[in-house]
Amino acid sequence: MNYQVLIEDVAVNLLKLASVRLPQDVKEALEKAYCEETNPTGKAQLNAILENIRIAEETGTPMCQDTGLISFYLKAGSRSADLEKVEETLTKAVRRATAEVPLRPNTLNPFTQENTGDNTGRHVPHVCWRIIEGDSLEVTAFPKGGGSENTCALTMMNPSNGVKGLKGFVVDSVIKAGGMPCPPTIIGVGVGGGADVAMELAKMALLRPIDEPNADRALARLEHELYEAVNRTGIGPMGLGGDSTTLAVKIDYAHRHPASYPVAVAFQCWAARRATARIHSNGKVEYLTHKA
Ligand code: SF4
Repeated sequence: MNYQVLIEDVAVNLLKLASVRLPQDVKEALEKAYCEETNPTGKAQLNAILENIRIAEETGTPMCQDTGLISFYLKAGSRSADLEKVEETLTKAVRRATAEVPLRPNTLNPFTQENTGDNTGRHVPHVCWRIIEGDSLEVTAFPKGGGSENTCALTMMNPSNGVKGLKGFVVDSVIKAGGMPCPPTIIGVGVGGGADVAMELAKMALLRPIDEPNADRALARLEHELYEAVNRTGIGPMGLGGDSTTLAVKIDYAHRHPASYPVAVAFQCWAARRATARIHSNGKVEYLTHKA
């Protein structure tokens, strides 16, 4: 099979998988939250979420009416063939997935409000590249809902505020967001770099599986502290009260300018959709987040 046709087919499949079935780690975290929830309203909301997930899987339909704005995160082997064609191929895949899954057409021109009707447009799908050793191509489809996106927050903090300031900003952002990002959320925190780097790191932190601890032990401790602080807010599932406001907090950082201390908070809703596959140069495809 032609390699670009294979990439297109895999990307369509990933968009369908992401829209219809949550990755196992997210499902397990939601089930655990349900078992541990002590607030009856929170428990009922988690029950409804789990039932929603079950029906979406059974019927092969998207788990939420908002099928998101689509990004792809790529890890491309430096010896992969025809890398210059990949973005065009992914755009074709988005058009096909919009018709075949189907996905809600969510891509508007911000000035004319015109909807392209196929989930593509200027800089959409957004494609984020990382070049790695080898000849395989790892593709992560990441359709991101508008409700959780609207609560993302960025501050250029005074460096003297330190980690204490960072914690305060994360918890304040969660309180300000309330039920809007459809909790229980996953929270990505990006620190350092410039404003753009901090937000990119916060977004990419959302890709880390819930059950994968931070490799840096101090940051793993900070993630746990923030997880507990966020869940103490009592915002709860869908913002209606309860113990489970977040399933996980994930942190990443870049070194910073002495005068700058950017902190970005990216929210992901309970419909934490991501699907990843590795395409080998011999045509073999491995699905990493879902069983195909
Ligand atoms: S925030 Fe997520 S769960 Fe809520 S409506 Fe948007 S996509 Fe759906």
